[in-house]
Amino acid sequence: MDHIPTTKNCIVIQETAIRCCELRVERQVKDAEGQDQLEYVCGASGGPEQGHVLGKSGEDLSAMAAICNACPIPDALESHRACLQLVPVRRFPAGQRVLPVIQPSQQSDADNQPAEAYFPCRWFYTLYRRDQPRNCDYCQGCPYWFPRPPRELIPDYWPETRKMLRIVSGEEAITKPPTGFTPEARRIPDKSWNWWQRLRDKIHL
Ligand code: SF4
Repeated sequence: MDHIPTTKNCIVIQETAIRCCELRVERQVKDAEGQDQLEYVCGASGGPEQGHVLGKSGEDLSAMAAICNACPIPDALESHRACLQLVPVRRFPAGQRVLPVIQPSQQSDADNQPAEAYFPCRWFYTLYRRDQPRNCDYCQGCPYWFPRPPRELIPDYWPETRKMLRIVSGEEAITKPPTGFTPEARRIPDKSWNWWQRLRDKIHL
């Protein structure tokens, strides 16, 4: 697949300009003829295995462009205040999990609803329960802010994504008390730890 970067924020795939996003993942599948094909998956909606399929190589990618180009998550992740603790998720309406997209005459009202973006934080998600923040305003001035490394370096990123999706969908109740204010949260890291141990300690799992 020929991916040609155009501007700082976009990539051209099959002559379609699509917003770059660190949470969009590609996976190899077989098409109906048994030929290799790439699927583009929104990791923010469930990770590489369970996420929403945005499009497939060799097919019309205009739907993927419309979804990703209007998505607020890439801007948040590219912000200088992007935080290690942030686990943005995008919740697509039921019935939009798999392409090809069904014909307009078969679409339900739920299918026409826009995909919702939420910005849960590993420290503070218990405060918001199902009503997770819709932007990152609350990150400004947060005492727990830590620079966000590449997604590949963040432990358990996709399981955490699925957990936050279950929370915003009401499929998982939050039973833990609000976090972020406990003595454990102020624990002093052991000076002998390497960078990986310090990174894990910063993540509230
Ligand atoms: S929908 Fe948003 S979060 Fe998902 S891959 Fe596209 S830009 Fe990224």
